[in-house]
Amino acid sequence: MPLTTAMAPEQGSAPSLAGKKVWITGHRGMLGSAVVRLFEGEDVQLLLTSRQELDLTDQAAVYDWMDKNRPDYIFHVGAKVGGIHANSTLPASFIYDNLMIQTNVISGAHKIGVKKLLFVATNCTYPKNAEQPIAEEALLSGPLDESVRAYAVSKIAGIEMCRAYRKQYGCDFVSVIPPNLYGPGDNYHSQHSHVVAGIIRRTHEAKIQKKSEFIVWGDGTPRRELLHVDDLAEALKCVMLASTTHDLYNIGCNHDLAIADLAEMIAEVVGFRGQIVYDKNKPNGTMRKLLDSSKIKKLGWRPRVAEMAGLKGAYEDFLSLLEAPAPGARIDL
Ligand code: GDP
Repeated sequence: MPLTTAMAPEQGSAPSLAGKKVWITGHRGMLGSAVVRLFEGEDVQLLLTSRQELDLTDQAAVYDWMDKNRPDYIFHVGAKVGGIHANSTLPASFIYDNLMIQTNVISGAHKIGVKKLLFVATNCTYPKNAEQPIAEEALLSGPLDESVRAYAVSKIAGIEMCRAYRKQYGCDFVSVIPPNLYGPGDNYHSQHSHVVAGIIRRTHEAKIQKKSEFIVWGDGTPRRELLHVDDLAEALKCVMLASTTHDLYNIGCNHDLAIADLAEMIAEVVGFRGQIVYDKNKPNGTMRKLLDSSKIKKLGWRPRVAEMAGLKGAYEDFLSLLEAPAPGARIDL
């Protein structure tokens, strides 16, 4: 069904979400569910659509749903995501799904005159040799890392689409770039998970199976900036509520660590005392991607979860998933 086009919203005024319809796409994923938790008990009408109810890659279905439900604000979190191995082996799925999903949601948001939309991108969008810490202006300034190129290109297209709709139609569409996320609701798939979840799983399995070592992918020297998912959810709310003057915000904690140090921290949290063995046949990916997050800091947001406490919570999440009667899609057992 064609959508009726509304006037573009005015930019610059700080929105209030009270009594408004807020659509969180991907609310069953790690980040989407953290954003839902943040609004619990608030006077906000949350619109949540499972994959079974609405296939975001289906433009006719998305337009039809948006026309009927008319969200005022959109946290566009839903995307196909995965760690370095998933990105390297499933590039067609990553580029196709993400281009389709974000094109439908962003263009639909313009057509129905959504007041503000946040698009969640990724730190993979920055060039592999970007100057550190990486400012937002580094986007499109150099070649991408091969391991994540298809995914990164799809997310760059999303950022540029938001910019184009701002420029041509005056839409208040803002993109954010988080670092490597972790926390409750993560995916612990043996091959497709991100680094924290992947190492938690293998360390735990090594402990249970009384092995003397556990395997970490790559050579341990790449550095990653970690952010707890609850901190990112708060940052998204902060950006949504602020009268934002930029169209792109990095959201990091200004600190990164080597994968080898991360592996040691996780081994301590899990209580595994054996050796770390590096599988150098697995890719290192980008060597460093520390974000310059000074723009979001000016909006007043600060991360609150300390790394060790956050990793303990993530391990508890993993253990509770193992004990669940039907562990479901977050883990392959
Ligand atoms: P990336 O930041 O986009 O590369 O995403 P990941 O979260 O997949 O992190 C990849 C980095 O962690 C690379 O340097 C990998 O070699 C390293 N790594 C070490 N062990 C693992 C693991 O079990 N899973 C994943 N995904 N990465 C790992």
